[in-house]
Amino acid sequence: MSRFYNRRTNGLTPYVPGEQPKDQKYIKLNTNESPYPPSEAVLEAMRDAVNEDLRLYPDPDCLALKSTLAEAYDVSIENIFVGNGSDEILAFAFQAFFEAERAVRFPELTYSFYPVYAQLYGLTYELISLSETFEIPVERFFNSKGGVIIPNPNAPTSVALALAEVERIVQRNADVVVIIDEAYVDFGAESAVALVGKYPNLLVIQTFSKARALAGLRVGYAIGAPELIAGLEKVKNSFNSYTLDRIALAGAVASIKDFEYNRTIQNKIVSTRERAAKAFGDMGFRVTAAKANFIFVSPPGGNAKQLFDGLRARGILVRYFTKTPEWLRISIGTDEEMDQLVRATQSLLVEGSSGHD
Ligand SMILES: *Cc1c(COP(=O)(O)O)cnc(C)c1O
Repeated sequence: MSRFYNRRTNGLTPYVPGEQPKDQKYIKLNTNESPYPPSEAVLEAMRDAVNEDLRLYPDPDCLALKSTLAEAYDVSIENIFVGNGSDEILAFAFQAFFEAERAVRFPELTYSFYPVYAQLYGLTYELISLSETFEIPVERFFNSKGGVIIPNPNAPTSVALALAEVERIVQRNADVVVIIDEAYVDFGAESAVALVGKYPNLLVIQTFSKARALAGLRVGYAIGAPELIAGLEKVKNSFNSYTLDRIALAGAVASIKDFEYNRTIQNKIVSTRERAAKAFGDMGFRVTAAKANFIFVSPPGGNAKQLFDGLRARGILVRYFTKTPEWLRISIGTDEEMDQLVRATQSLLVEGSSGHD
């Protein structure tokens, strides 16, 4: 609170990102970053972009990046919007498509930025609870008055929705915008980009942060009907014409072009995830059907906070949310990191069950 803030700012409860601690070296499995570096071609393109042209503004229309994405996804440039991380695109979408008095609908357990944006832009929202196994109850997303947003796969559960189910939700909300946030889609879910040509109310948002190992670059994109893309451009150009800098644009273009490299690291992460999910299952954890670059697990007995603290004391960071007190979200690291995590978890479980604390 401050007497200098306006009423809205005094009322805000901001999003809390996972910690990026500086005090010691941790095995960082708490923010869904890639354990692998970005493609060498990306680093080279960015080094090349560090030149005298930096005195000039970047292209406000980001045409080089849009045309590279358009080609990769077999859509036209008018179907593409790019932004400073998908978080920024989500913020623009909340501003462009949702109305204060018509509630936007999203899952009760989901990406915690959605309620923050709703609050920031003075929007109301409706929360839909998930099933016991964290499945999205599809029918409860039909006929929204204000719009729908769903991450697929969902976070922090890692559970995915089949494309046919996504399509039913889009069909049954023809008069409002349905946003599918596909931050993690490249780790095994089915993308709704294939539906964009068919449904003018569908906006698909993706990012370079997770599956392309570029969280530090801050680049995301949206694919949708030209009418929706133009709405996003309208909001963007009422805020900041240059959300992407020259270096980020160069790196993002190179990343899309190095499809092979990204496929390789995505496949590695998926196979490590499968190993890790099995190891936690073998230790008696509940484990959801993971399709993202993280697993969502609940220890025997359900004391996730104790396990979180124990792992942290051993230099391993995972994510604990008070909202789901029996569960931990664990980002997929390298095989070696996950082996260390499993060993630390095993010994903490033994300590816990023998009564030491
Ligand atoms: C990580 C994440 C984002 C944000 O990605 P950026 O492109 O880094 O802003 C958006 N949505 C979900 C569900 C995420 O987990």
